[in-house]
Amino acid sequence: MEPMSYQVLARKWRPRSFQTLVGQEHVVRALTHALEQQRLHHAYLFTGTRGVGKTTIARILAKALNCDTGITAQPCGVCSACTEIDAGRFVDLLEVDAATNTRVDEMRQLLENAVYAPTRGRFKVYVIDEVHMLSNSAFNAMLKTLEEPPEHVKFILATTDPQKIPPTVLSRCLQFNLKQMPISAICGHLEHILGAEAIPFEIGALPIIGQAAHGSMRDALSLLDQAIAYGAGTLAEVQVRSMLGTIDQGYLFDILEALAAGDLAQAIATAESMLERSLAFDSALEDMATLLHRTALCQAAPDVLPETTPERARIVALAALLDRESVQLAYQIALIGRRDLTLAPDPFAGFTMALLRMHAFAPSSTASLTEAPGEAPTARRTPAPAPATVTRPLQATPPGPVAVPKPVMSKPVSTVETAPRVLTAPAPTLAVARAAAVQPLAAEKTNGPASPAPKPAPNPAADAATDAAPAATLAMLSPETWPSLVRTLALSGFSRQLAEQSELAGLDGSRLTLRIPPTARPLASYRDRLATSIEQQWGFRCTIEIHVAESLARTVASENAERRSNALAQAQATLDRDPFINELVSGFGATIESVAPDQPSEPHSDAED
Ligand SMILES: [Zn+2]
Repeated sequence: MEPMSYQVLARKWRPRSFQTLVGQEHVVRALTHALEQQRLHHAYLFTGTRGVGKTTIARILAKALNCDTGITAQPCGVCSACTEIDAGRFVDLLEVDAATNTRVDEMRQLLENAVYAPTRGRFKVYVIDEVHMLSNSAFNAMLKTLEEPPEHVKFILATTDPQKIPPTVLSRCLQFNLKQMPISAICGHLEHILGAEAIPFEIGALPIIGQAAHGSMRDALSLLDQAIAYGAGTLAEVQVRSMLGTIDQGYLFDILEALAAGDLAQAIATAESMLERSLAFDSALEDMATLLHRTALCQAAPDVLPETTPERARIVALAALLDRESVQLAYQIALIGRRDLTLAPDPFAGFTMALLRMHAFAPSSTASLTEAPGEAPTARRTPAPAPATVTRPLQATPPGPVAVPKPVMSKPVSTVETAPRVLTAPAPTLAVARAAAVQPLAAEKTNGPASPAPKPAPNPAADAATDAAPAATLAMLSPETWPSLVRTLALSGFSRQLAEQSELAGLDGSRLTLRIPPTARPLASYRDRLATSIEQQWGFRCTIEIHVAESLARTVASENAERRSNALAQAQATLDRDPFINELVSGFGATIESVAPDQPSEPHSDAED
């Protein structure tokens, strides 16, 4: 047994007065008013989902009616009536759980006693929980008493399902709908309790519990108890996540942002790190659907998203980065992926397959990504002088079980590749490369940088503001050194993705020209943030101009992909020797979706997440 003792908190912190009740202000106000005015109804009905405080309010009301100090909205809590009610041994408080007590004769006997005056208190209070579970004859027995209630009887009914209560009963009750606890109210209450109990906690753990409690304060408190026991007296975010099997939403944002940028390899890499941490992919898909739902809401009406929504800023950014159709589709795919997860060879395969689908089935061309509503106007203004071969919209061909249709949000180099492609069985690492696509790519690569890359010169104007190291950085700036210099920059989120997917095309005075693949176009709006980081870290004040180019020579992403592909070249070779695969390739014109993202332009970052 934990010395802290399981469940103590939930019981100890059960509200004993209207003042300490969290949430349900509307109910408290009405009841307080009625008690103060002595305008008492003889039957109350509290409705609401489980754990929102129905029976808690019922007990407080019982005290308010029976407190030795008189009928009051503020029962004293110390008189014998109050303490006996709190302890659950007040003779005139009759609590019935209709879920376990539906027999009509028991009900009838209980109600027959109603005619007798209370033994001890002012009122005989009947609290009937889950009242909708009563049988019809039990309802009828109760109805008789409800129709002509003795002066000293009060009924407090509670239910999660008011629809199942006969209208004859409903019409005789004063009804209050209890609201689900908002996460913010739960978090605030937990924080208060933890402070009062002097239990060390990480603030980030609270919304996780709040979310898992699904609006029920009781569940939140019992989860809190479990989490404290699990954490041996402390409350740490990591432990709470692990106890609840919830996913750090950061992973899901990383994945969706990578997919938005057309960077499937990055998305898969993130899924792999989730796998390493043994995260539950079922929850991941559920959470991803929640995230996409919020993103869609944000796109439709940003104000709908409450300020207290966890990670609101990142949702707003995501909403600006994705077009609405993509969000709708990804949402569907997440739902279906979750439904089918048990059929998948393993959860990781099922999860990554969902990501592949999100990547492949983007409904519109890259161009439409820039039509995202709201906060990405800069993306639209992005100059695109390069042959803007917008990737083709998705063909309508419905995919067979293994055929993967043409991805549209990425793979800019594959303009010549038309062969149907086949996804091989889930290999050690998941797979996006195409044997066929390597050819044109290799040709482009030997041509070197596709467009002239003016030798950048250090910017003398900035020298004054820089110390030796940044000046050296600036002097080293060239298309060849750009990727390795980018690695030295401390960047995060979209500006990091922008830098990693870019190549240096030129440096003219303080104007830095970067080239990005069409798939990275939505990231262009983060150029100012990147410029700020460069100024802060290299001491070089610059403006960044973004050009979209069909093929890029050297980016961090391409280097990462290359490195990755080298590491897996052996696996690739093995696959190439496989007679079955070869037969597929030669006999059916299939091309290989191999074991690695060995397509250098397939952006991939192996940065930690
Ligand atoms: Zn009292």
